[in-house]
Amino acid sequence: ALYRAKSQHRGGCIAFSPELEQMIRSGQVMEAALQAADLERELSLVFQPVFATAAVRIVAVEALARWHSPQLGAVRPDLFIPVAEQLGIARKMTRVLFDKAVTVLATLPEPIRMTFNLSPADLADPLTIDLLVGRLAASGLSPTRLVFEITENALITDIHAARTMLERLRATGARLALDDFGTGYSSLSTLHQLPFDIVKVDRSFAVRLADDVGRRLVAAIRGLARSLSLECVIEGIETEAQLIEATLSGFEYAQGFFLGRPVAVDELHRAVAAEPLRWRA
Ligand code: C2E
Ligand code: MG
Ligand code: MG
Repeated sequence: ALYRAKSQHRGGCIAFSPELEQMIRSGQVMEAALQAADLERELSLVFQPVFATAAVRIVAVEALARWHSPQLGAVRPDLFIPVAEQLGIARKMTRVLFDKAVTVLATLPEPIRMTFNLSPADLADPLTIDLLVGRLAASGLSPTRLVFEITENALITDIHAARTMLERLRATGARLALDDFGTGYSSLSTLHQLPFDIVKVDRSFAVRLADDVGRRLVAAIRGLARSLSLECVIEGIETEAQLIEATLSGFEYAQGFFLGRPVAVDELHRAVAAEPLRWRA
């Protein structure tokens, strides 16, 4: 409202409204703000824990991008990342985010891994892959502490090119996770052909754990992953009942608001230092 008042109603009052929100979030305004953004300063990461269900222990944290624009306020990653791609600044954005992720990983105790999301544009760009491989090597961290997450949609455009990129990432020793599994078009043969180590089952399946048919479906997905020797994480666990059902269905890893919401780096350090269960408190 302040920026709107400054630009069009100097000295007047503007009440923030859903229409105003709609307008400022529209592509054009976001494009201009992103083009002018100081990415180092305006981008940050929050971290959400991934728990081992049996021990209720943090095994990894997922780095999730946040953009705090001086003009637009907080913008969601699923909104600004596609715009960054259109503007041709995806590579720069990925570099800034990856450097921040690696810096935080270096401060976390050894057994904890970091997972980092790659967009379809990242995976299609050999220079981005070079950059990730190079910066990971320069960090001095063991690549086995890093997991790259790729959504199914990143694979459908050109599966052969995708495989080459995935193999390069995996050759570093880092591991690969297929994100949001069950929402896209991956077939069994895609899963089998690509060098994934982990499958993250989309959060729409966590909701289905409430009924018998849904539970059978989720257990079948778990069984499929097991037969392909893939580790399996269930996303979007929001209730204790879902956690119990997921554990009974054989999921050894889970993520979701019930276990821990994404937090800023300071809180991450506090949570890791304390008992894992305190994360929830
Ligand atoms: P994702 O990788 O599947 O990440 C999980 C998203 O689900 C996150 O949203 C997280 O906050 C949310 N979430 C986690 N647990 C729960 C739950 O229990 N219930 C519900 N309703 N939601 C939950 P977020 O942070 O808004 O990120 C959205 C998507 O944006 C991510 O989905 C990922 O695909 C993308 N993204 C985030 N950070 C990055 C990044 O650095 N690079 C790229 N390329 N994509 C990113
Ligand atoms: Mg993810
Ligand atoms: Mg996901």
